[in-house]
Amino acid sequence: MKRTPLRATRPAKTSAPIMGKCRHCKAPFERKSARHIACSPACIIALTEKSAAKKLAAEAKRDRIATKQKLIEIKPLKWFKAKAKKALHLFVRTRDEGKPCASCDTILRNTGKPGGDYDAGHFRSVGSAKHLEMDLRNIWGQCKHCNHQLSGNSQEYERRLRISQGDAFVDELLSDNETRRYRREDYLVIEAWAKKEMKELKSGKNKNNQA
Ligand SMILES: [Zn+2]
Ligand SMILES: [Zn+2]
Repeated sequence: MKRTPLRATRPAKTSAPIMGKCRHCKAPFERKSARHIACSPACIIALTEKSAAKKLAAEAKRDRIATKQKLIEIKPLKWFKAKAKKALHLFVRTRDEGKPCASCDTILRNTGKPGGDYDAGHFRSVGSAKHLEMDLRNIWGQCKHCNHQLSGNSQEYERRLRISQGDAFVDELLSDNETRRYRREDYLVIEAWAKKEMKELKSGKNKNNQA
């Protein structure tokens, strides 16, 4: 390709100088060439610093993302457990909304109270049966009165669970004393499962509301 030779189209020196605007301080200055973008050495330094700062900021951002990933990797087991528990309890509360409390006749209703209107209550308590803490057979929607004031109201809980789930179900649950050892992966699976089920519950509920 034949290039048109670059030729200064600037008129003779006698005419007015080509003016530019300094990229840093925005003051007008006489431009000597196309690469001349700042009015003074001080402004050139400032511009260089600005671009270096931009580069540093981008690097810092990349580091932050990597650090976040690393921090998750070194999180203690209880962090994964807390997240799994939160998702699982939310699933139970959503599943049992509109049903009676596991241990009394109170209907579980969500009015958006801070701290929740009712709980996901354990049949065999977390204190005495830690291995069933994440076992869905053992967790049902329960009013706060039963869960807290009546410390789980376990006799009524059992009576009603026998009616709703059958004796075999309850007997099996009561005789289950096998220790579980959850790893972080297990908690992640529980959390993901609960979140997926929540989504399905919600879309099901929306469909029912529309019907
Ligand atoms: Zn300047
Ligand atoms: Zn209750």
